[in-house]
Amino acid sequence: QGSRLLHPEDTVINTAHSVIGGDNFTMMAGPCSVESLEHVTKMAAVAKASGATVLRGGAFKPRTSPYSFQGLGEEGLIALRKAADQYNMDVLTEVMDDEHVKMVAKYTDIFQIGARNMQNFSLLKTVGQTNIPVMLKRGMSATVDDILNAAEYIAAGGNHNIMISERGIRTFDNKYTRNTMDVGVVPVLQKLTHYPVIIDPSHAAGHTEFVTPLALAGTAAGASGLVVEIHDDPAHAFSDGAQALKPNEYKAMADQAYAIRAAL
Ligand code: PEP
Ligand code: MN
Repeated sequence: QGSRLLHPEDTVINTAHSVIGGDNFTMMAGPCSVESLEHVTKMAAVAKASGATVLRGGAFKPRTSPYSFQGLGEEGLIALRKAADQYNMDVLTEVMDDEHVKMVAKYTDIFQIGARNMQNFSLLKTVGQTNIPVMLKRGMSATVDDILNAAEYIAAGGNHNIMISERGIRTFDNKYTRNTMDVGVVPVLQKLTHYPVIIDPSHAAGHTEFVTPLALAGTAAGASGLVVEIHDDPAHAFSDGAQALKPNEYKAMADQAYAIRAAL
């Protein structure tokens, strides 16, 4: 169902405040984790001021260590929803388990399926039975065919509002970047499928100084949008502070991305 051959037109996803795919370019930004209502509201203001229409934030966090901060859970979702509503933005947040899909659905406009869950087929089937758009993140060892088949699990349930996010893959050298951003996958996916492709430069880079170049490269390759982690005090972020853009850095990146997109 995701094949470009059978469905040549781009999928265009309409949410309350965004149009994603086709000729549109969508900016999504926010903290890695929802930390408090006050903080996520401040980050919503920053994201919105630079044109983002989607507020991202994790309330259920897939942390490498079980001893790291796991997210605020439903309390975080309530804060994220309030912050987004205050700035007329959509909510994008990760759902990690089948049993949370119904609850997360009460608060979000877009489900995020994290890289580690890209082949959690049970979860894919469950979100596929909803009508809420899904951002499917590429697993860190997933091939293009793996991604397309994972998307198919969602589509098979009747939910065709799917976007695919490249967030970097593991390669032989991830000493200086957290992952390797596969910029080539943007035109490849656009050839094979009609789903919008969104670049996540933050998890690919892993370090703030590399986020903007990767964001701009993804934009130049023709991505339908960017999803970027921001924080006003990265040193004290609950998660992923090392890759957060500060408000002024985010604005500078966004302005350049819009200019590149306009020149395509
Ligand atoms: C995230 O978006 O914060 C995240 C955990 O992403 P990924 O699943 O790509 O690692
Ligand atoms: Mn993160």
